[in-house]
Amino acid sequence: MTTPVRDLPLLLLGRGADPDSERGVDCPGDLPPASDPALVERARAAKAALGDRVFVLGHHYQRDEVIQFADVTGDSFKLAREAAARPQAPYVVFCGVHFMAESADILTADHQRVVLPDLAAGCSMADMATFDQVEECWEVLEDAGIADEVVPVTYMNSSADIKAFVGRRGGTVCTSSNAKRALEWAFSKGSKVLFLPDQHLGRNTAVLQMGMSLDDCVVYDPHRPEGGLSPRQLRDAKMLLWRGHCSVHGRFTKESVDEIRARVPDVNVLVHPECRHEVVVEADLVGSTEYIIKTIESAPSGSAWAVGTELNLVRRLANAHPDKNVMFLDRTVCFCSTMNRIDMPHLVWALESLARDEVVNPIEVDPETAHYARVALDQMLALP
Ligand code: SF4
Repeated sequence: MTTPVRDLPLLLLGRGADPDSERGVDCPGDLPPASDPALVERARAAKAALGDRVFVLGHHYQRDEVIQFADVTGDSFKLAREAAARPQAPYVVFCGVHFMAESADILTADHQRVVLPDLAAGCSMADMATFDQVEECWEVLEDAGIADEVVPVTYMNSSADIKAFVGRRGGTVCTSSNAKRALEWAFSKGSKVLFLPDQHLGRNTAVLQMGMSLDDCVVYDPHRPEGGLSPRQLRDAKMLLWRGHCSVHGRFTKESVDEIRARVPDVNVLVHPECRHEVVVEADLVGSTEYIIKTIESAPSGSAWAVGTELNLVRRLANAHPDKNVMFLDRTVCFCSTMNRIDMPHLVWALESLARDEVVNPIEVDPETAHYARVALDQMLALP
């Protein structure tokens, strides 16, 4: 039996392996064609008709034609907080990916509806840690006799289910800006950390910012029995890194850095901590998306920058700073394909539907999951 073509994106890019969890991926009704020359005008008109009833959030990695309609731009956590600070807007349109819209739903008031214009805008990293896999991992830790010593920490880029798992077990969420503080807090509560789902952020923070060695870190592979680790390896490690990564940042290589340094001798290499360890150690500066933006903004005229993060953002930075030489670190790495699913047809469809008070593609986290995910998010806000 062949797999129906329309199911493929759901399995590959959606929230999990269950196509039913992504009902609504097909936009019913009148999704405008991408070739419609009136898309910008239609989006403008629908947004004007909605007025204060809608608040549009745009992630930094979003494409230009969409982000021009954002009321605020930022990283995922900043956007979720901005939405929560606008309770007067009953509709929140999240131009980002699924886990971000979930966080916005968790942090906004009950009467606010969060809409993701295309439900197939998932995140490959978040999808690398499912609830069942993480539960199974915890059983492995229990069997090894170490679960009581382990504090779970999850990156913001994870599903609400995983944030709730962490909240139930006394852990915290972290962002790429506060990962060090989150780990310091976690190590004040236990002797080991289970870091989900991005192995690179976990390793880079532990080794480069907290003085651990690479030998202190092991990688738990959810696709292998017992994570591919012996009880001894689990007991000896301090950082238990989940085998997950970002499909964009994970593609930069040490060779990309060597190549750009050979081509542009005075270049500054600036990368995101979701990049591999061997890339981060070669870079001049490492930091979150917000840090990258601020660094380029404050850089002197004439300076040269090779930036290792998502291409839409790097292009926007290059256009905004023509007096600086802002380049993409690797010419073969491309956009975040799932983020790019939010395009003008989907945005127009979402806004025009809301203007008729028809809520399409709502993101709703069930109350119990939302409660425990919020526990983990609140713990992050309370980090010393
Ligand atoms: S850039 Fe990476 S982490 Fe961010 S949404 Fe895309 S796949 Fe996920």
